[in-house]
Amino acid sequence: MKRSYKNIVLVLAVFVILITGIVALVINLKSRENKHYTVVASNFASYDFARAVTGDATEVKMLLKPGAEAHDFEPTPEDIIDIKNADLFVYVGGESEEWVEKILESNNISPDKTLKLMDEVDLIEEEGEMEYDEHIWTSPKNATILVQKIANKLTKINPQKTDKYTDNANRYIERLNRIDEGFRNIVSKADKDELIFGDRFPFLYFIREYGLKYAAAFPGCSEQTEADAATIARLIDRAKATNAKVILKIELTSDKIAKTIAEATGATVMEFSAVHNVSKGDFENGVTYADLMERNIKVLEEALK
Ligand SMILES: [Zn+2]
Repeated sequence: MKRSYKNIVLVLAVFVILITGIVALVINLKSRENKHYTVVASNFASYDFARAVTGDATEVKMLLKPGAEAHDFEPTPEDIIDIKNADLFVYVGGESEEWVEKILESNNISPDKTLKLMDEVDLIEEEGEMEYDEHIWTSPKNATILVQKIANKLTKINPQKTDKYTDNANRYIERLNRIDEGFRNIVSKADKDELIFGDRFPFLYFIREYGLKYAAAFPGCSEQTEADAATIARLIDRAKATNAKVILKIELTSDKIAKTIAEATGATVMEFSAVHNVSKGDFENGVTYADLMERNIKVLEEALK
């Protein structure tokens, strides 16, 4: 009698342990299913590509505040916590983001949870510098590669959303391919092949992609904002020599230099976005990299007339 009582207790104990195990397993699987995945992206272009891939399946946060200067960015303590907690951190990895490697190292962040975009495309050296130009995303061709790489990485991190990430990426890549075609059509039909920038020049990847030439106030994203008289004179000469109808400026900068050149040559100032960042208004309206590049197609058409 005593022994059978002991047996019942034993069977019951095993049963309880088993049930507890099964319940824990189900809770674990459920929570993984309901896990809230987050992606953190450094600048607007990387944010836009990640957002296009994830759609509403995953939360994406941009570190750069809309309207802010991309090259002065310093992460706040909250940003660092977000990077640490993110399932994926997407960053460009150029000169403007030298802070990234230090943060990844000091916080022991696994390479499985990061994607450095400059590792994913062919790099071009900055003019007159030994460093690689960081504005890889200004070529829509590169953008298609970057979208695909982000999709591949996210699929590894959250395989349950593979179909969604793949469909979203394919749809965005199709749009980017149409944009690439748009630029190619304009360039092939245009009589001109030179652009005048009264501003910085973050478009090396773009120019090389479409076989264009350029003259600009400053190379790359130089910290200079005041052009000297010789620079202005050089650009006015270039604008006159090429009979330029449009003087270009980039987004979120002063139009002072471009205006001076335009006034001296009878040209018009137009904005050609390098998509470092967008204004607060554009951000709130959900403006995308593709939208800005479609605006750029129209601007290029005018600039090459
Ligand atoms: Zn830049």
